Amino acid sequence: MKYLVVLLVIGVVFWVWRQNRKQDIREAQAQQQAPRVPQAMVRCAHCGVHLARQDALQQSGQWYCGQEHATLAQQAASRDRA
Ligand SMILES: [Zn+2]
Repeated sequence: MKYLVVLLVIGVVFWVWRQNRKQDIREAQAQQQAPRVPQAMVRCAHCGVHLARQDALQQSGQWYCGQEHATLAQQAASRDRA
């Protein structure tokens, strides 16, 4: 009977330890994801899509999602001026 109580205590201690470990792993995973620096986002001046600045194209002070929209926007601007 005495051994049963000891076994039970060991079992409870082990269970609590396992729960703590699970929580530690979850916290470690959350910390790994958190410090990731949020990427600077820019908006395409032509279509309004948001994209990472490193993927965007800058032309005459505006950001574009690609060369096509940069060209289209410039054509539109020159059309407006004419
Ligand atoms: Zn665009």
